[in-house]
Amino acid sequence: MRLRWRCPSTVLASALLSVIGFAGNLHAQANADWTEPFPPFRIAGDLYYVGSKGLANYLITTSQGHILINSDLEANVPLIRTSVEKLGFKFSDIKILLISHAHWDHDAGSALIKQITGAKYMVMDADVPVVESGGKSDFQYGSTQTLLYQPAKVDRVLHDGDEVKLGDAVLVAHLTPGHTKGCTTWTMKINDDGKTFNVVIVGSPNVNDGYKLVGNTLYPQIAEDYERTFRVLKSLPCDYFLGAHGSYFDMETKYARLKEGVPKAFIDPDGYRKYVEEREQAFRAVLLRQRAAN
Ligand SMILES: [Zn+2]
Repeated sequence: MRLRWRCPSTVLASALLSVIGFAGNLHAQANADWTEPFPPFRIAGDLYYVGSKGLANYLITTSQGHILINSDLEANVPLIRTSVEKLGFKFSDIKILLISHAHWDHDAGSALIKQITGAKYMVMDADVPVVESGGKSDFQYGSTQTLLYQPAKVDRVLHDGDEVKLGDAVLVAHLTPGHTKGCTTWTMKINDDGKTFNVVIVGSPNVNDGYKLVGNTLYPQIAEDYERTFRVLKSLPCDYFLGAHGSYFDMETKYARLKEGVPKAFIDPDGYRKYVEEREQAFRAVLLRQRAAN
């Protein structure tokens, strides 16, 4: 069960890369659901799911164009485009591209999406060097050739608490670091049926296999950063619980309920609270283990 909360690629890649040495193949096999199409759907208000089965993308539509969260692998870009078009929107109307964090499964397609749409790419300050180097400056995966990708230039550098506005949409960028240095949790408010709801799109609170929480020379403050992330996540009001992978919030089960006619299947404040608690315990267990071994 713990596996489902992680980027599955990193679990397998880090465990097997050094032993077998063809992570690219393994990567694709281990994560078939990353490039498996999933029906696009409206979550609430002007917020839509346009991701694959395993990688989450969100489209926020406005009268001034649209915002897309995450670009995924390059192979996902045609899938995202098809999903946007199936919903009746134009891919070329995407004006702003955002990401959950600077790992290849959420940002490798950014250069291609910028090229097709001309969207402005807005990224949290501490993730900017990673996306602009195509992953080379990542503290954990920077020297793993199979996980590098086409660099993309950032048009606006974001800082913690910054707002991204387009039309009447307002998204707030919350720095939730540790998983990457600039990992970002996005929040927004949605008006539906005359009520206002809080949306949280979790960046990632996961400690991947191989992460050094103690004595990490490339990321000395990593443990403190995770502590900050859990403080931030626990402070956010949440009605709609979403995240960078559908597995964080049990997307498939909730989608099935939505299809059965439950209109607010994605409202899950209890699920959010439990998820954050469980992920914090997992982080603390790794931290204790690594401290004891050092
Ligand atoms: Zn990740």
